[in-house]
Amino acid sequence: MEIVPETTTTQARADRYMFLTYGRFPVTLVRGKGCRVWDDEGKEYLDFVAGIAVCSLGHSSPVVCRALKEQCEKLVHVSNLYYTEPQTDLAQMLVEHSFADRVFFCNSGAEANEAAIKLARKYSMEKFGPERHMIISMCNSFHGRTMGTLSATGQSKIQVGYDPLLQGFRFVPFNDIVALDEAMDKYVCAVMLEPIQGEGGVVCPDPDYLKQVRTLCSEKGVTLIFDEVQVGMGRTGKLFAHEHFGIAPDIMTLAKALGNGFPIGAMLSTDEMGQAFGPGSHATTFGGTPLATAVSKAVLQSLLQDGWVTNAEKMGAYFKSGLNKLAEKHETIKEVRGLGLIIGVELCVPGAPVVEACRQKGFLIVCAQERVLRLVPPLIVGKEEIDLLLEALDNILDEMETKRG
Ligand SMILES: *Cc1c(COP(=O)(O)O)cnc(C)c1O
Repeated sequence: MEIVPETTTTQARADRYMFLTYGRFPVTLVRGKGCRVWDDEGKEYLDFVAGIAVCSLGHSSPVVCRALKEQCEKLVHVSNLYYTEPQTDLAQMLVEHSFADRVFFCNSGAEANEAAIKLARKYSMEKFGPERHMIISMCNSFHGRTMGTLSATGQSKIQVGYDPLLQGFRFVPFNDIVALDEAMDKYVCAVMLEPIQGEGGVVCPDPDYLKQVRTLCSEKGVTLIFDEVQVGMGRTGKLFAHEHFGIAPDIMTLAKALGNGFPIGAMLSTDEMGQAFGPGSHATTFGGTPLATAVSKAVLQSLLQDGWVTNAEKMGAYFKSGLNKLAEKHETIKEVRGLGLIIGVELCVPGAPVVEACRQKGFLIVCAQERVLRLVPPLIVGKEEIDLLLEALDNILDEMETKRG
């Protein structure tokens, strides 16, 4: 066997030539199919991360491959100075399947949220004057890493070092309607929140919370923004998470699963809000290219027609009931929560050793916050794959609990 000097491995070269912004697992992935990925040593993994709630149709989805291939042979990119059909089709589909009347396309979740912040500010400025510009968001939220969305994110651990952050954001605890009411003074133009907090540890809203938020916002003429970047596009068992709660926002942002891995984001709003964005008010070079939107259109069509949203609901219920059985047996599990196929398993101990043990057994999972295992598999996942992970988790927790005594 040839001995390869260490500096020529992919991992060593990455750590030599790239910024060390990611705490990475020592795995180099080379190939994926459905719910499975393979590393460069041929080891197979069942993927319960799915690119962090991105690859909903799984890896190398034939739907995505076909759309990519067909569109790239026609037209990849022109400027938003011109109309293109895939972009128009996708916008129409999103409008027809949501509360919204208008769509702006961009490239990522952070950019979608930037657009939402700008639209809410501009709308409020034109309607109520410049004094009303404050945006309330939630403690433990996550809205992105640009200066604007970082300023809107309620987690000091990722803001540290980047002062001065942008002004005009204020934070209240999630699920605390009294705190929100108290924070809603005459300077507030918008409330921005994730219907289910993803990065914050898969935190679900209390039964009436989102309805109460909607009522408060409507009473005060304050814009309600839902960041559905992680929970949208069918993950919760409905196309958009807020549909579970019988209410709709004024603005919604999407990204992660929108292109199944092909980068695309979107900001959607009502017609009333949309009037504040006229020609020249906002723009992007790459947002909504024919290629990105053709892929996304195929993804949305498949989600709707092939039953994957329903599968997310069914498999989510199956997964959660299995995890709840594990919770009865293992004192390490504190709580199982989530909706559809975004599931958080809160542990009484740090989650990293469980994540590592899973990886060694051939399962990819991640933490959201230190003690919550976040399970966000492709929406095409089946009972067999879920059973395999449940069995592995059962064994891992057994071993850990025996060791702890
Ligand atoms: C991932 C995420 C974002 C940021 O998306 P990027 O594409 O990484 O910019 C924003 N909001 C939520 C809720 C997210 O989960």
